[in-house]
Amino acid sequence: MDETIRQRMIELLAGGEYTDRDLSQFLGISEKDVVYHLEHIARSVQGQKRKLKVIPARCMECGFTFEDRRRFSKPGRCPRCKGEHLQDPRYHIQ
Ligand SMILES: [Zn+2]
Repeated sequence: MDETIRQRMIELLAGGEYTDRDLSQFLGISEKDVVYHLEHIARSVQGQKRKLKVIPARCMECGFTFEDRRRFSKPGRCPRCKGEHLQDPRYHIQ
């Protein structure tokens, strides 16, 4: 079950950029499960000389980007302007 979902996620991510919300809708799983699978996928694609790339979350009010976020979770608000209109991080496999 997990393997099938991960395989589908890898195929999706190899073909485009998706947010965890997109992935949860496509795969019919919760966003929390998406994050869980992303962590596994990040490790497993490394062994195949591929990389899970994270396009960082960005504040739509001031343009601040959350560059140094390592974890697959979403920031709540912008540290610079305190705005809450954030564009979700997107994921892609290279
Ligand atoms: Zn901001």
